[in-house]
Amino acid sequence: MQGICKLCNKEGTLKESHFIPKFIGKWIKKTSITGFLRENNDIHKRKQDIAKEYWLCGECEGLFSNWERQFANNIFHPFVDDNKSKASYENWMPKFCASISWRTLTYIRSKNPELKGSDEDYKLLDAAESHLAKYLLGENKYLEHYKQHVFPLEEIESTTQAGLPPNINRYFLRVMAMDIINNSENIYIYTKLPRFIILGVVKSSESQDMRSSQIREKSGKIKPRDYWWPEGFISYIVEKTEEISAKSKAITEKDGKKFEEFILKNPDKAANSKQFEAFIHDYEMFGDDVFR
Ligand SMILES: [Zn+2]
Repeated sequence: MQGICKLCNKEGTLKESHFIPKFIGKWIKKTSITGFLRENNDIHKRKQDIAKEYWLCGECEGLFSNWERQFANNIFHPFVDDNKSKASYENWMPKFCASISWRTLTYIRSKNPELKGSDEDYKLLDAAESHLAKYLLGENKYLEHYKQHVFPLEEIESTTQAGLPPNINRYFLRVMAMDIINNSENIYIYTKLPRFIILGVVKSSESQDMRSSQIREKSGKIKPRDYWWPEGFISYIVEKTEEISAKSKAITEKDGKKFEEFILKNPDKAANSKQFEAFIHDYEMFGDDVFR
């Protein structure tokens, strides 16, 4: 399809690209109980695929896929498949994170042209979108204050935090989501992947406190450490996790039956899936509350 590439603004043949990298949707499908991508997005339809549109030219798509491959091979798969919790990265990591944040920002804005917020916020989002695009194209050398943060997530076995919803492990380990989150002080671009949250700064008064999650421009390490979560972040996550649980309850009876039948017919596939494993982590922590 001919069109204008959203990243470089040049006219050319556009490729069909995914907003959340394809290897992530593939992994979720492969490790789900039924082999469909139905766990958490649009619960009424078994989604075969995640949001994709014609919006990047071949050259820009090529840039993205190179960083994606590095992230997939060096971080994502070792963490999700082999339970690794440490990894080193080079310059592809800030690029990958910025490409994710840019995609989320562009996607959310295209779906909500009148995104709530003041005129000033609107200008800030414009400026962020343009700075990130130039950074991805190599026209801006540094991220400057549009820092990228990564929070690796592990299953929770116990917590002192009261009021965590009983599907929290499934949210941490399985869910994909894109959003822009803000309060009066801060605006962040939020991308949730299985086992990771990528947070892109648009405006933040908490940069100093958040240093432990900040992705370095040249090279660095992801490892277990004390992460400082931005203000309101935990309540946001709890709210989203509860929304998913409410949506799951709205599954039509017919869909629920099909799901049950599949499990009865394929007990081994179900028991060995990562989706089931995430459910068991919740069950071990919350007991019968997971069925409520
Ligand atoms: Zn392009």
